[in-house]
Amino acid sequence: MPTARIAKREPPKPAGHRLSALDKHWKLRRAAGLQILEAIPLKKFNWLVHGFSTCPGGISDLERSSSGRAKKESVLNLGFTDWDRRESVAENRRRFAKALGAKSSALTTLRQIHSDVVRIVGSAPSNVCQGDALATRAPRLLLSVQTADCIPILLVDPRNRAVAAVHAGWRGTLARIAAKTIGRMQMEFGTRPADVLAALGPGIGRCCYEVGPEVVKEFAAQFPHARDWFDGPFDALASSEDPNPLPWLTMMPPGHEPPPPRCHLDLHAANSAILATAGVAPKNIFVSDLCTFCRPDLFFSYRREARTGRMMAAIGIT
Ligand SMILES: [Zn+2]
Repeated sequence: MPTARIAKREPPKPAGHRLSALDKHWKLRRAAGLQILEAIPLKKFNWLVHGFSTCPGGISDLERSSSGRAKKESVLNLGFTDWDRRESVAENRRRFAKALGAKSSALTTLRQIHSDVVRIVGSAPSNVCQGDALATRAPRLLLSVQTADCIPILLVDPRNRAVAAVHAGWRGTLARIAAKTIGRMQMEFGTRPADVLAALGPGIGRCCYEVGPEVVKEFAAQFPHARDWFDGPFDALASSEDPNPLPWLTMMPPGHEPPPPRCHLDLHAANSAILATAGVAPKNIFVSDLCTFCRPDLFFSYRREARTGRMMAAIGIT
């Protein structure tokens, strides 16, 4: 999940807030008691399974607050979190794989570290690797990444029948992990970027993803078109001085400093641009504009909830 330091805050009111954001390339499919978000263009390959999980339908009990009132909900938590039982997560994972039609595939996960490390797997690994992208050409593996605001990206190379799953928060985006995954697929499988289809699943949207000067500066230094991905005082933050290390010099009593200015970052736009620069055809990049922060009915959000679950994006060759 994106880890930039900001205060937790209430989600915005949903009125007029892209509530019916499922566009023509995306569909919520009900299966095995769950709701799976699918990228329609990936469904034309009969050798491929894929899907992005949503909250409803699991067996994990999570106390969530909606409109200020805490209530227990049964959710599909797919990550081993401190508040959940391992058996519940294992059962949720089993249901998710079943809903995807990948019951007999070996679920392959990562210990995600907000890096640019890409793992190529040829068979089910015996222990969980560290990294933020998985790629394979082997059948009966279900590659997965876990998110709760970060952007999950699924890649398909139909010509060589290779697939990848990528986890991109702001650090991974900054490190161009999506482009590096395409690069590794090129090297290992002979993938041609122009053949690749990319599905960018639900993550925290431009509407809700506030970041401070430390993030703005890093993007400004790395990408000539970074400005396009931000709303707010981009230039001011990109060129701002670091905060005064000696707060007494500001002449403000403690706790009375003005709040630091912030920008909103669009991680979907950034990753789409990074993929396009890597040679993926813009017509083959499909972006879900569902925001995890805006839609507590469908998604977990690390920013929205102090205690939350993990969604999974998964892809595999049958
Ligand atoms: Zn939002």
